[in-house]
Amino acid sequence: MSRLVKIKPGQKVDLKKVSTLPPDDADKDVSAKLLKEWQVEFDELEDLFAFAAVKGLLINVQGMDAAGKDGACRRIFGMGNILTGRAVCFKVPTATELAHDYLWRIHKEAPARGEIVIFNRSHYEDVLVVKVHELAPAKDIELRYRQINDFERMLTENGVIILKFFLHISKEEQEKRLLRREENPRASWKLAAADWREREHWDEYQDVYEEALSRCSTEWAPWHIVPSDKKWWRDHQIVEVLIEHMRELRPGMEQFLEDLGVKRRAELAEWKAANLKPRA
Ligand code: AMP
Ligand code: MG
Repeated sequence: MSRLVKIKPGQKVDLKKVSTLPPDDADKDVSAKLLKEWQVEFDELEDLFAFAAVKGLLINVQGMDAAGKDGACRRIFGMGNILTGRAVCFKVPTATELAHDYLWRIHKEAPARGEIVIFNRSHYEDVLVVKVHELAPAKDIELRYRQINDFERMLTENGVIILKFFLHISKEEQEKRLLRREENPRASWKLAAADWREREHWDEYQDVYEEALSRCSTEWAPWHIVPSDKKWWRDHQIVEVLIEHMRELRPGMEQFLEDLGVKRRAELAEWKAANLKPRA
């Protein structure tokens, strides 16, 4: 069983009380071994998911700069068949996107049935960075928590499974990672003065994250807090939640494919009887 903190609907989140480190008994080698074992099963479950095409899966990844969003997305993809999945990175909105409601660009990227889509950042930026930098009127932002819950409910009522992960890192770990990028010439492309500038708003970001996690963790689209100072624990925990959900779907997906097989066989037999002359 995954040991992630899954936020209950209405639960008030205090990020200072949630560790960014793995529990004492966690072990890097054990995690690596488990991930390897799950790879085969996950790949198979992903195929079933695509073939049955009964549900879509939306994996939403959020976190501070350098929290490991890109790394987590890469890891999830590494677990299975790229053909059934897609990742979308939401950047600063374009002029066209800004001319629409904030969910317009998001809804277009929602998974179809059979598809797994990872959101690297998401509509949550519209209550995070937008709130910290006052990019929209406060009264508009205030409405968005309910709108987001309504939007996510609508998606889930229409066949989309939503799992949301907040990658929780400490301020010290973020500093280490930003400095490491400076030391490594091959990581320089990742450097942005903006990351250091945003870091000055650390406390405000923690506040808006707490608010978003508290107000938008619902029965239909729960938030999980992922202790992310250690990448191996982060990956282990996310993949475990995903595989647990996919496993629950397995019997339904297998039954669906079996029924479909029976139907196709009957259709084929009927067609043959009508169109193929019996051999003399
Ligand atoms: P990165 O994920 O490092 O490529 O950076 C993407 C940038 O886009 C981040 O600084 C986000 O805060 C910003 N961003 C994403 N969505 C929005 C949004 N809705 N409004 C303003 N900025 C956004
Ligand atoms: Mg970044």
